[in-house]
Amino acid sequence: MRFSGWRVLKEGLTGNKGWGPHWRDPEPKREYDVVIIGGGGHGLATAYYLAAEHGITNIAVLEKGYLGGGNVGRNTTIVRANYYLPGNSEFYSHSLRLWESLEQELNYNAMMSQRGILNLYHNDGQRDAAVRRGNSIINQGDDAELLDRDGVRKLAPYLNFDNNRFPIMGALMQRRAGTARHDAVAWGFARGADMRGVDLIQKCEVTGIDVEGGKVTGVQTARGPIRAKKVALAAAGRSSQVAAMAGLTLPIESHVLQAFVTEGVKPLIDQVITFAEGHLYISQSDKGGLVFGSYLDFYASYAARGNLPMVEHTMETCVAMVPAVSKARLLRSWGGIMDMTPDGSPIIDHSPIDGLYLNCGWCYGGFKATPGSGNAYAHLIATDRPHGAARKFKLDRFRSGHGLMDEEGTGAQHNLH
Ligand SMILES: Cc1cc2nc3c(=O)[nH]c(=O)nc-3n(C[C@H](O)[C@H](O)[C@H](O)COP(=O)(O)OP(=O)(O)OC[C@H]3O[C@@H](n4cnc5c(N)ncnc54)[C@H](O)[C@@H]3O)c2cc1C
Repeated sequence: MRFSGWRVLKEGLTGNKGWGPHWRDPEPKREYDVVIIGGGGHGLATAYYLAAEHGITNIAVLEKGYLGGGNVGRNTTIVRANYYLPGNSEFYSHSLRLWESLEQELNYNAMMSQRGILNLYHNDGQRDAAVRRGNSIINQGDDAELLDRDGVRKLAPYLNFDNNRFPIMGALMQRRAGTARHDAVAWGFARGADMRGVDLIQKCEVTGIDVEGGKVTGVQTARGPIRAKKVALAAAGRSSQVAAMAGLTLPIESHVLQAFVTEGVKPLIDQVITFAEGHLYISQSDKGGLVFGSYLDFYASYAARGNLPMVEHTMETCVAMVPAVSKARLLRSWGGIMDMTPDGSPIIDHSPIDGLYLNCGWCYGGFKATPGSGNAYAHLIATDRPHGAARKFKLDRFRSGHGLMDEEGTGAQHNLH
């Protein structure tokens, strides 16, 4: 079933009776070449690229809930390639390029909207840092532009330019950044993988990982044992728990991050705006809701529910920069579990167990990584060599200290992140 304007028109005129399910609902087989644990964005993208680019189709994606029911469907949908440090910058650059052709590749409307991102700065020091970051982004081959106060005012006149503590001096802008419809991304990858023969198995929690003589042999699941030549983790916030099934301890803590959506309002915010001093990021969805969030709740937890002090902080920081938001009513909020590494950068690597692969540590930035992560992880699983754009995402850096990508300058300790 291909989507096209013509098809939509035809179905609209004939009672919409011709649409079929987007993917099958298969029974798990006893054995696969590759089993992927987790049917979020990264697991589904990995399955898609394994099938589409490497011809490996005897794959099962095992999801304990429903496809796209994890963080891939519950985030603030920001997509960008404006990282500063080598390791991250080439990876997110690769990912953004995949985003730009994703809808055509998947024949699926992921509502990719390159509306631009404005990272505000408020003092000379921050401006210098923005210049440095901008140059690093341009050297990487991506776009960055320094705007002064008037330049920001032209694009976002509703911002509080004369806040006493944080007057706006300008912004670093990336025009190719933007947003995408989060769950459509999961559905698009799911459909693309299913079409190529991948089994997407929902309500199938992995409860154990079988290892014999240092080599993975399969998994135990709520729907029985499944043998596999290769097993790939893509469990995001649950990565530590899943890795523990194979006796591994990961350098990851799981923390809650909350997000908020207001009722629909008339078009106000055209870009994505970030106010780093208050750690606010805000955009407006196509339905009109203002979508925003701020920082982690700052305690390790698996409860997908946030605390009230962080709600208060987020509202304060939001109203400080976008005062008009105080008039909007909050429609909903939610919390997701983030797989935080000490240096804020991810892991795509072999594990110490033969045939068991790791994809985790996405912190609060894994949505924008979805195509890049799936693409690079598929390359690792298929060839047993790291993808060029993800070669620095090594597990060993946390043991040796060599190759840390400390994007936030917080050091290599969890509690400083
Ligand atoms: C509030 C919030 C805002 C965010 N905003 C952004 C943003 O603006 N931009 C950005 O880039 N990133 C953002 N993120 C981060 C991003 O959403 C995540 O990093 C990313 O979605 C994680 O990868 P995933 O999609 O594969 O995870 P998930 O969708 O969580 O997938 C993991 C899957 O594994 C499954 N699973 C776990 N354990 C098992 C098991 N034992 N057996 C079988 N299945 C299992 C889970 O059910 C889940 O479906 C945000 C996150 C949150 C919570």
